[in-house]
Amino acid sequence: MKTVVFIWFKVDTMAELTDLYLGPAQCGPDVAKVEEYKYGKGKVGLDVEIKLDDGDERIAKVCALLTQHGEHHSTRREDIYTEEELQNAPLLELGGGGDYDNVAHAGPHYGTTYDVTNACKQCGTGVRQTSGVIIRGEDERRIEKTRVAFTTHGGFLVHDVDGEKLVNAKFTGFNLWPIQSLQKNGTKVELRREQVLIENVMPPMAPSAILDRREVCPVCKKGRFNHLPFDPTRFVYRAEDLKNIQDFNLTWECFGSYAKSLEQALESYWPRPSILVTPRVMNFFRGKTKKEKKYEGVSFTPVWIEGQTPWG
Ligand SMILES: [Zn+2]
Repeated sequence: MKTVVFIWFKVDTMAELTDLYLGPAQCGPDVAKVEEYKYGKGKVGLDVEIKLDDGDERIAKVCALLTQHGEHHSTRREDIYTEEELQNAPLLELGGGGDYDNVAHAGPHYGTTYDVTNACKQCGTGVRQTSGVIIRGEDERRIEKTRVAFTTHGGFLVHDVDGEKLVNAKFTGFNLWPIQSLQKNGTKVELRREQVLIENVMPPMAPSAILDRREVCPVCKKGRFNHLPFDPTRFVYRAEDLKNIQDFNLTWECFGSYAKSLEQALESYWPRPSILVTPRVMNFFRGKTKKEKKYEGVSFTPVWIEGQTPWG
């Protein structure tokens, strides 16, 4: 695993880019990616992405030069894992991936029903789905582009053929629920997709997990965790937390949503758990060919084990 730092900014011309930034900071084409973009009336600017290993002294140089010239820029650190590390991870976070917006609107507004008996009154964490998911009809075609899709309310959706394969290959820790889409005329149409409903909830993560805890709900202490905006999130578990894992699992921590009451959460979003899967599930969903890879619609990030993580 290595951590890389991305720096993004825009300039007007190649001369400006070379003379003010890339030259003085000694950043060659191996670390700088430049693309043209059009704006206003036929004007062309340059979008710049610099990618450097964490700790490279050129990061501070480029940022200082950008600040000096009053150029707006943004940065982000990301963990990059090797294939071997992905395959040897005990669990991986399954996230939405790729360039496609493969998320369908769902939730109470479109008719899916929920039980709120045990939900937190402060943030809505713990709202439990009690019917098959119903998505917004307009989103049906869009989510067909990718092999897997998600809903705005934490649903993980697969094609029915994949659902059948998951059952036949004896993957553990999930049930399949039907999906309908709500058409503009009020009718519902059954889709050839299924929701993977996951039941096994992991213990809370180790305190060393790197998460954004600033908004955590003071009442349930379980809702409104977030991913960090500028640094890589790292899910860290103790070795004993991994004893009873299934192929599909949920984090105890629930992420996202800024709702300040259960009512508000039901009107918008409530905090949802992240999905953790074994490398076997990753291998099932990852595309084998270039085209399949483009449309896989999912990403995988290893969880860390406290004191044992092979990559240190
Ligand atoms: Zn709460």
